[in-house]
Amino acid sequence: MSRLALVTGGVRGIGSAIARALQADGYRVAVTYHGNETAADNFRKETGISAYKWDVADYEACAQGVAKVVGDFGAPVEILVNNAGITNDCMFHKMAPEQWRSVIDTDLVSCFNMTRGVIGPMRDANFGRVINIASINAQKGQAGQVNYCAAKSGIIGFTKALALESASRGITVNAVAPGYIATDMVAAVPPEVLAKIVAQIPVGRLGHAEEIAGLVRYLASDGAAFVTGATFTANGGQYLT
Ligand code: NDP
Repeated sequence: MSRLALVTGGVRGIGSAIARALQADGYRVAVTYHGNETAADNFRKETGISAYKWDVADYEACAQGVAKVVGDFGAPVEILVNNAGITNDCMFHKMAPEQWRSVIDTDLVSCFNMTRGVIGPMRDANFGRVINIASINAQKGQAGQVNYCAAKSGIIGFTKALALESASRGITVNAVAPGYIATDMVAAVPPEVLAKIVAQIPVGRLGHAEEIAGLVRYLASDGAAFVTGATFTANGGQYLT
């Protein structure tokens, strides 16, 4: 039986491209989403992949959700992609506690909530892949995104420490830091701001979600067993680490 991969925020954007790529590679795939029923229905129809609705910021919802996926597939989650994320941009001196908390909870605490439920069985099985989607802005900083940069930088530390704890158990833990990718998240950026961003990308365009999925499918593969604790940038040359 092929391995089971679970992708959070998988009905749109980067997560959808990741889920489709893993399906094409022969994995059994499940995804989560938060509330966009239209996107979820379209995704189910197009791919045949099961899409489960829960809030990744909610620990109990994640525990119950993972248990449901495992029960439905009759298999443990062997590949987890922590992709779900939001922005809630605001200059820090005007940022409300809720703007801080919503991004920290959805983008960073979610990695604890989701990974905590799958890491034990991965350790028991001596195999696992945890792939966390960070951001270029964790690496370079971005005005108006103190909350997002803090959350995404936290993901990189989470990745390194969990990689060290898990290495002897056949589990790899890696992060991918995308640059600006043409998804709904970036469509929310005002056009004049986006034009200035694209001008800073040496490749001369936004990235495609499939270009991030390509990295993830490699990290999920058996051939990536020696790669752990790393953060992979895919940003068109916009910021070199
Ligand atoms: P989108 O906004 O296109 O999609 C986000 C997905 O996450 C959606 O499926 C959404 O569900 C889901 N989601 C959001 N909040 C929650 C929640 N609380 N619980 C469960 N699911 C949730 O984002 P992108 O595809 O652009 O981004 C994917 C990841 O990549 C994010 O972590 C983002 O920070 C990161 N990233 C994106 C970049 C970009 O340029 N696009 C650049 C760098 C990093 P629903 O569909 O139901 O709303």
